[in-house]
Amino acid sequence: MTQTVASAADGTLEGARLRVLIVGAGIAGSTLAALLHLRGETAFVIEHGAPEDDEGYMLGLLPLGGRVLNGLGLAGAYASQSLPMRVYDLYNRKGALAHSYPLDRLVSGFGDWRGIERGALLAMLRSAAGPIRYDTTAPRLVEVGDGVEVTFDDGSTATFDLVVAGDGMHSRTREALFGTVDEFDTGWGGFVMWGPLDDPERYSEMWAPGWGVGIYPVPGRVGIFLAGRHDAIADRDPQDYADEVLGRLPEGRFRHVLSHRDVNQQAFYWRMADVRSRRWITEHAVLLGDAAAGFLPTAGVGASAAMDSAAALADELSRAEASHLDYALRLYERRQRPRVELAQKNSRSLARYMFMSSRTGTVLRDGLMRFYTLDRLVSDISGVMAGTTKG
Ligand SMILES: Cc1cc2nc3c(=O)[nH]c(=O)nc-3n(C[C@H](O)[C@H](O)[C@H](O)COP(=O)(O)OP(=O)(O)OC[C@H]3O[C@@H](n4cnc5c(N)ncnc54)[C@H](O)[C@@H]3O)c2cc1C
Repeated sequence: MTQTVASAADGTLEGARLRVLIVGAGIAGSTLAALLHLRGETAFVIEHGAPEDDEGYMLGLLPLGGRVLNGLGLAGAYASQSLPMRVYDLYNRKGALAHSYPLDRLVSGFGDWRGIERGALLAMLRSAAGPIRYDTTAPRLVEVGDGVEVTFDDGSTATFDLVVAGDGMHSRTREALFGTVDEFDTGWGGFVMWGPLDDPERYSEMWAPGWGVGIYPVPGRVGIFLAGRHDAIADRDPQDYADEVLGRLPEGRFRHVLSHRDVNQQAFYWRMADVRSRRWITEHAVLLGDAAAGFLPTAGVGASAAMDSAAALADELSRAEASHLDYALRLYERRQRPRVELAQKNSRSLARYMFMSSRTGTVLRDGLMRFYTLDRLVSDISGVMAGTTKG
């Protein structure tokens, strides 16, 4: 007879100090599970995807997230499966280089900024996370007096002292236990594709009226982001859209990479909208990663923020007394919320700067671009990394 999810949870949590359920083994949930595992604390982790699933896109990891891997003994694996980023090149609407920013000025005080595939990072984190129950969800969650009663998708039920919602931007766990979110929609979206690795140390982006292209190296290839207005591109064939963009590009890096893209791999579409939850904690539940504050990819900080928050939550939980869990959750929120929301604010303001549809707006922006320093573009994120968050 197959074991129910509830009895698997009971087995995993036998003798545990706290009965913790982590919903979602993405970047945030896997980091938290790995850190708890390292500290000898056990959590029950469920993930609705299969182990081999990974939403194929590239991640730029700031030291804010990358340094969490040091404490997990994963520094060597991270170094060998990622590339250090040295330069960010910003091109104007006509495809001419407007500004070349050396990244070392931004990160020299903190550590490397590295490019990695999401699948590689996930595999690394999950290898340290202890057992994960795949193909499993928790469609019903109800907060009861002393915990959260959870019904799994096989109909079995178990009660937990704490439920951690690590199920991403569109979190069902948040919907069940937390209610309202504030949404921010840029009206844009984009396809992620893969191309040949040309320059391994350089991010390049070009922003034109109503469309844009980005190139982000990871080991062995580059991720390509093809942006446009959501209503104009969401239903399009990604390869047709890529050909259309190709027709507008001048000779150079964007044209070279896009014309040699991998047309056999399925393109991944992402809508450029995010959410911010009004509440982060209840008596027995807590939001983590994109479930608390979802990130646009514009500042390349969502995964780093998720890992930074997972480290803070693991720290507070490993000190928490079972009878004062609410106190640990309040401390976690106080530590992380200002940092995360400030980083999110930065990624939203970059979106306003990048995703412009009017020609006049882009002409003005191109004029100003030459005077914008990188420090200014990502000043909030620098503040978060420096620990000087003003909120
Ligand atoms: C195209 C793109 C590019 C990006 N680039 C960058 C970048 O360069 N740098 C950066 O730092 N960030 C980047 N981000 C953002 C980053 O990916 C997210 O901020 C980060 O993944 C958040 O981690 P998370 O664990 O909260 O959510 P996710 O990584 O989305 O993980 C959520 C997990 O929960 C699982 N799940 C969902 N629903 C359920 C359910 N009901 N039950 C069980 N499991 C469930 C999912 O399968 C998934 O495994 C990018 C995002 C995109 C889309």
